[in-house]
This record gives sequence, structure tokens and C-alpha cells, in this order.
Amino acid sequence: MKLAICNICPRKCTIKEGGVGFCNARDNVDGVVTCINYRCVTSLALDPLEK
Ligand code: SF4
Repeated sequence: MKLAICNICPRKCTIKEGGVGFCNARDNVDGVVTCINYRCVTSLALDPLEK
């Protein structure tokens, strides 16, 4: 099992292979921390032209 240490934020999670970090936004793929939601829409808002 390959562990990965995430250095994105001060929490510095140790993530097991196939597991996710505290934020549920990073995972461990073959010992490498990856971003789960990369290339995904994470928020959507309507901004009216008339304002
Ligand atoms: S997995 Fe998420 S909560 Fe954990 S250190 Fe990385 S960014 Fe921070």
C-alpha cells in the first residue's frame, strides 16, 4: 500500500491508496495525490445582465 502526504493545506493529510483526504477533494492514485474534481464544474451561478 502506497501512502501519500498531501501538502495542499496545513492539515497535511496522509492518504491511503484509494482513499481520500479530509476535504474529499484529493485522493491517492498509485501514491500520487490527485485532485478528484479536476475538469469538473464545482459551482454554477446566474449573474443577471440587468443589475
Ligand atoms: S487532502 Fe484536503 S484537507 Fe487534506 S491536506 Fe490535502 S487539501 Fe488539505
